[in-house]
Amino acid sequence: MIVLEVRSLRVHFAVAKRTFAGVSNSLRAVDNVSFSILPGETVGLVGESGCGKTTLGRTVVKLLKPTSGQILFEGEDISTWGAKKLRQTRRRLQMIFQDPYGSLNPRMRVESIVGEALDIHRLTPKPDLRRRRIESLLNDVGLDPSTANKYPHQFSGGQRQRIGIARALAVEPALIVCDEPVSALDVSIQAQIINLLQDLQRDRGIAYLFIAHDLAVVEHISQRILVMYLGRIVESGEAERICREPKHPYTQALISAVPSLDHDSRRKRIILPGDVPSPLNPPSGCHFHPRCPIAEPKCRTEAPALREIQPGHHVACHLV
Ligand code: SF4
Repeated sequence: MIVLEVRSLRVHFAVAKRTFAGVSNSLRAVDNVSFSILPGETVGLVGESGCGKTTLGRTVVKLLKPTSGQILFEGEDISTWGAKKLRQTRRRLQMIFQDPYGSLNPRMRVESIVGEALDIHRLTPKPDLRRRRIESLLNDVGLDPSTANKYPHQFSGGQRQRIGIARALAVEPALIVCDEPVSALDVSIQAQIINLLQDLQRDRGIAYLFIAHDLAVVEHISQRILVMYLGRIVESGEAERICREPKHPYTQALISAVPSLDHDSRRKRIILPGDVPSPLNPPSGCHFHPRCPIAEPKCRTEAPALREIQPGHHVACHLV
């Protein structure tokens, strides 16, 4: 069974902002996005900051409310569920964050942080079982169980991320949304956390939605990749194919910026002009057209559909 299926998801935020064309009252952070994740699979979600990745991840775990569309988790549409109905499902649907320190209560000991999840879901009511379970979880993420009575500030950044992972693991999730989980860490620590996530996936069959701006990390950990630009998926497919033969001009530019991923050494670095435009007032037609090196007049007026160009490989571009 598919773990997660997102269908035509839209997340719009109401804002009031005057533009030359009138009043814009909606920020389209996620605009008609569909994808699925299989058990034990890692799907990477990449794009520059401001493209809607984090909003999409938070909506999948219902920290944000979708405007429309469906989120099917283990076959059930959770997009319209309220907090009470979600409680049991949320156990199987966890999130780890970029800033582990910000997501850990500084006044709680590690034992309480990890144990809280067990208590909420009444997973180990007996105190000695609970203690052993917490020690086992800390051991599984590479932390010394004797540190259970310490506070988050007594750990390094990498260790704090391990605490966040232990907390997510406590409730035996089927899917963890990993929002830039290593981007605040040193490179050597990044590798340790990535290896830990891969080991846990192999042992427990957990699926990951792995959000990152670093394509090299995403290629390493993901079986499939989604490339997002201004709220829309512009390319998706197998990680190796996307990194070896990117078809969308935006993906090509992202990959050319990571020398270790540019498998064709003859290819030149593609420098995109400007920054990602504001999603409050996105460009007409193809959102990418003001920065696209091969844009044609049609690109300014018509939004390209996401088409399957090879089995499992989808691209949204008029010229592909
Ligand atoms: Fe570039 Fe046009 Fe393709 Fe958009 S549709 S990526 S502007 S060529």
